[in-house]
Order: sequence, then structure tokens, then C-alpha cells
Amino acid sequence: MNNAYLNGQFLPLAEAKVPALDRGFVFGDGVYELVPVYSKKPFRLDDHLRRLQSSLDAIRLANPHAGDVWRELILRLVAQEEAADQSVYIQVTRGVAPRDHAFPEGAAPTVFLFTPPLVTATVEQKAAGVCAVTAVDYRWQRCDIKAISLLANILLRQQAIDAGCAETVMLRDGFLSEGAASNIFVVKDGVLRAPPPSHLMLTGITYDVVLELAQAHGVPHEVRAVTEAEVRTADELWMTSSTREIMAIVALDGAPVGGGVPGPLAQRMDALYQTFKREVMRA
Ligand code: PMP
Repeated sequence: MNNAYLNGQFLPLAEAKVPALDRGFVFGDGVYELVPVYSKKPFRLDDHLRRLQSSLDAIRLANPHAGDVWRELILRLVAQEEAADQSVYIQVTRGVAPRDHAFPEGAAPTVFLFTPPLVTATVEQKAAGVCAVTAVDYRWQRCDIKAISLLANILLRQQAIDAGCAETVMLRDGFLSEGAASNIFVVKDGVLRAPPPSHLMLTGITYDVVLELAQAHGVPHEVRAVTEAEVRTADELWMTSSTREIMAIVALDGAPVGGGVPGPLAQRMDALYQTFKREVMRA
């Protein structure tokens, strides 16, 4: 929690400082990743590093490190941290330069990592589920980039918080996109449905794992555009992310989802996910 890495140096988090003209600070010009770590093992690290690469490619920033260097940095930070379960936050910005929208020439990217605590849901929270609200997805057209400029996501998430809920389910042109900081799944008549990866959503690592588990365990599933009507008449609604894992949404805009309690498929998928995690940790 208190350890960090900044531009070649391991140091206490409190001492990790960047100049005010870092483009991450003045423009939000950078990308990030959050890797959950269970029993000291980063979960699906290759997938996270692949997604980091595609975010960097999308913002036309050269990856400052090869995969083995990233792995070494991450494992060193994980080793320094006492907690067995934790997370690793990785951020790369376009570096420090005079304030100008144009890409700076010759600026070195800023590389920052630290290990925030991993706060997953308790058994009680999972049993209760959470409520969510809907909002128009007014973000830009490149939601597939894991950009640090999260202002829209922050404002949209706050709408849920202000309503005493956990997440904002976003709808764009009558279709489900994703949550403010999660992917959203719908269950109807035993069939799991998820919107297909596109530039209008971030493809979550958890999203991929859920679909892999559905495939491996014969859970009927469809990856296709999901309408607002399907969201509103769902038997089950889930939010998924590295920290929330699979969390049932039991009320949407004040109306119960299905029976108003976590549904059977959410419970089954959560059990599959927990087993899968344990297998990965043992491997
Ligand atoms: N969409 C958005 C907008 C997110 O912020 C997140 C969480 N980072 C996700 C989806 C889920 O991604 P993951 O499963 O990799 O945590």
C-alpha cells in the first residue's frame, strides 16, 4: 500500500512526486491498468499487459517497457507488500513538457506504479447485491482505451453514489454500453447476454473471464447488442470488474431486478469465478 515505483526508482508512495507539467496532470494524457493480486500472484497479468499495450497503441505512445520488464517491476512491488491479496495500479503518461496539445518531442513517458489494497466484496455484500441507476452514456467514442482522463466516468459514477447505489448503468442510443467502472451482463430466461467489445466500452478482463467460464461450463450465453428494454426487463443484472468481481444488481432506478435478490446464475458464476481464481493461484 505504501510502496511505489516512479520512473526507474522504487520508493515510498508518499515520496512519489511528479512535476506539475506532467501531461497526466494537465491533460489527463495517459493510460492505466489495475491488476488484482491474489496470494501474491497477479491475476491474468498477460491480459492486463496486452490491454495496456493496446491502450498505448491507441494513444500513440510507445510502450516504455518490454513485457518481461513490466513483469519484473510488478512482481518486485508485490513482493514488497505485506498483504497477500492486493492490487497493482500502473499508469503511463506522455511525460513532462511545456503545456501544448501537440505531442511533445523527446519527452520521456512517466511510469508510475503502486499497490493499493484490494477491496473485494464481502460474503454479506454479495448476498445482498447492490442497486444501480441508469444514465445516458455521454462519454466519447473511444471508451475502449483505458485512459486516465476519467472525468465522465467519475460524474456518472457519482450519480449512483448520490442515489445511495453502487453503479451507473450506461445506455447509448437505446443500447447497453457498460457501467461507469464495470461491465454489465444481463440474464433472461437462463441466457447470459453481454454487449460485444467495441470502441464504446472497455473490454474488462473480468468480462473475458466470465464469458470463458460460461463457455467452459455450458452456460447459455450470447454476445450481442443489448437493448435498454432488455436491461429493464432482465431476470438478473450483474456488474463485473477486477475489484467487484461478479456483483448482482438487485434494483435499477428504484425498481427490483427479477426477484430483487441476487439470482441463481449470478451465484453460480461467482462460485465458478472463485474456483477459477483458486486454480490459477495454485498453478
Ligand atoms: N469498464 C470500465 C469503464 C472500467 O473502468 C472497468 C474497471 N476498470 C471495467 C469496465 C472492468 O474491467 P476489469 O474487469 O478489467 O476490471
